[in-house]
Amino acid sequence: MPEELDPFKISQEQLDTAAELMKLDKEAHAILREPKRIVTVNIPVKMRDNSTKVFTGFRVLYNDARGPGKGGIRFHPQENIDTVKALSAWMTWKCSLANIPFGGAKGGVICDTKSMNGIELENLSRGYMRAISRFIGPRVDVPAPDVYTTPQIMAWMMDEYNEIVGHDEPGVITGKPVGIGGSEGRFDSTAMGGMYVLREAAKLRKLDLRKAKIAIQGFGNAGKFAFEIATKLSKAKVVAITDSQGGVYSEKGLDYGKLSAMKEKTGTIKDYKGAEEITNEELLELDVDVLIPAAIENQVTKKNADKIKADIVLELANGPVTPEADKILFERGILDMPDFLVNSGGVIVSYFEWAQDMDGYYWDEKDVYQKLDKIITKSFNDVIGKQKGFKGRKITPRDAAYIIAVDRVAKAMKLRGWY
Ligand code: GLU
Repeated sequence: MPEELDPFKISQEQLDTAAELMKLDKEAHAILREPKRIVTVNIPVKMRDNSTKVFTGFRVLYNDARGPGKGGIRFHPQENIDTVKALSAWMTWKCSLANIPFGGAKGGVICDTKSMNGIELENLSRGYMRAISRFIGPRVDVPAPDVYTTPQIMAWMMDEYNEIVGHDEPGVITGKPVGIGGSEGRFDSTAMGGMYVLREAAKLRKLDLRKAKIAIQGFGNAGKFAFEIATKLSKAKVVAITDSQGGVYSEKGLDYGKLSAMKEKTGTIKDYKGAEEITNEELLELDVDVLIPAAIENQVTKKNADKIKADIVLELANGPVTPEADKILFERGILDMPDFLVNSGGVIVSYFEWAQDMDGYYWDEKDVYQKLDKIITKSFNDVIGKQKGFKGRKITPRDAAYIIAVDRVAKAMKLRGWY
């Protein structure tokens, strides 16, 4: 992987930029450049043909000065430790910016879920939980879903953990199904949070969302619900959407119901009739008002940043815009809202889920969305306020978000006497 696309190098570079701008203490900077703990596990898993396959997994606790570690688990064929380290750093900044009482962590297993059946997935999920069980816990580090992991997987993992500790401990993991400790509103909370940010960003740019054209890259948990919420709530027109195999474009706007039914049936949306076929790369360069990268890292790079036509880029994925691209978008006057603000809705509602589990008292969906709106709108205003109030130098929304987040973590470390 070229150095400029190495996610961990990118996360360090982003931190370095913020550290310089905010004149961060050298000691705090040194602590914050590396994760606190890295665990690698090799998990033997019984497969459907009775053979045993060994899967490698990771759990990285980046920082826990502000509270237990927090962050999802990815099941991905190209998973690697550098990506998990970067994602655990981004979780630290995400929780800090949202001002929720968690540090940052992330996990991953190298596996291809598409080639595995239910039993194999369950065996792997339980095996991974057994392997990391002594490094996590409701007051230690709290995992959650991420790429290719689901509420069902969280349920198996919680169940395995409960067997290990010998009592019910729903707060060990979030993103569980409702009814066994999950929270109302968690399944679409990432997209919902993103849409609240979009509402505020649109106000700032004086963009009428009812007349706006939106392109979304990704049809997973984030992209799919962003499509649904944007169409139903904001009355905006989603003109293009892709999944990992490609996608479709229609000037008139796309039909959420039809496309999600097709995805459900065939596993992809790329063969949808009645709209023009487009690739993932083409989607990014479309002439739209809002571009929502909601898939994976490194999508907007120095190669295509000068071809982006959207007025607002809403980073619903983790790490979709590289630092070089960030600068280019900023110079071109495009409002690029950073990932760890835009997609923080997921972890904010995870925090609500954890709080409900620890309390044994559950809230309704309306309550959840209202509280989410309040927290994420405040984060948005904090970021824009910091950006405007930063004298002497023009800084990007990402730099502003970093300065707020890093400052809170550094203060917590100082209070604890870590430096
Ligand atoms: N995987 C989500 C994220 O990247 C949610 C993490 C969580 O809920 O802990 O923000």
